[in-house]
Amino acid sequence: MLQTTIRNSINCTGTGLHSGETVRMCLRPAPAATGIVFVRTDLERRIAKVPAMWDLVTETTLGTTLTNEHGVSVATVEHLMSALAGAGIDNVFVELDGREVPIMDGSSAPFLFLIDCAGIRRQESPRTAIEILETVRVEEGDKWVTLEPADRFEVSFSIDFPTPVIASQSFDLVVNEETYKAELARARTFGFAPEVDYLRSRGLARGGSLDNAVVIDGDRVLNEGGLRFEDEFVRHKALDAVGDLYLAGAPILGRYTGHKAGHALNNRLLRALFAEADAWRTVPMTRGVVRSAAPAFAAVAL
Ligand SMILES: [Zn+2]
Repeated sequence: MLQTTIRNSINCTGTGLHSGETVRMCLRPAPAATGIVFVRTDLERRIAKVPAMWDLVTETTLGTTLTNEHGVSVATVEHLMSALAGAGIDNVFVELDGREVPIMDGSSAPFLFLIDCAGIRRQESPRTAIEILETVRVEEGDKWVTLEPADRFEVSFSIDFPTPVIASQSFDLVVNEETYKAELARARTFGFAPEVDYLRSRGLARGGSLDNAVVIDGDRVLNEGGLRFEDEFVRHKALDAVGDLYLAGAPILGRYTGHKAGHALNNRLLRALFAEADAWRTVPMTRGVVRSAAPAFAAVAL
């Protein structure tokens, strides 16, 4: 299998979930071995690049934020990262004229659509994966995440919320381009009406609306069209996990399981994995693209 980038540059405009500001994003083809690299076009070139890597994660409340050595940040990267993982894109420059990836409709489907429109180009270099050799586990209270050996990428997630709209949900998927698109990409982020009010009072979620999140108030969903999947919540947690895990810098060959987890534990899991030299190795990828993805965690996804 060979590395991939997109065939043509492609633009979109959207709103930052937290800033509420309009952001322009441009995906551009990148040479082999570049990886996914964010570029802040509103800043000096010298300091503008932020590679999408696990060790640059600086903030995990309400989304995953990356910060480079110059203190330059890019926020809410997880849904775009998830789409790039799901589409099997290894190398791309993501230009942004602000500090936040646009939220679009709260899922990764609009990003997948952009990638589809841009087309995919195979490159000369072989594609590599990170093979999990030993089980790694991170927990905090009743939340936990694991990575275990498996010969494909699998994601399993379970959540439990004290509202009948969500309650207990679990989801398990062998992730490849087809299953990602069909089962995960359309699942939107979600939040609870009282918490949205609280976040707004703190200057967060300014761009949040029923157009880009499922909002739950008591025992009902406020969005007029209802849910896209009966278990849309746990599917979104799985979508988030696929995106957070792609910050490993390569597709993962292994099984991820998450229970009530979120961006923080997902990042701690990668840190635990890479701290253990015997727990993983880099291997040439010989089979399907991203083989599995799945879980979703609890904690408010908004
Ligand atoms: Zn999310």
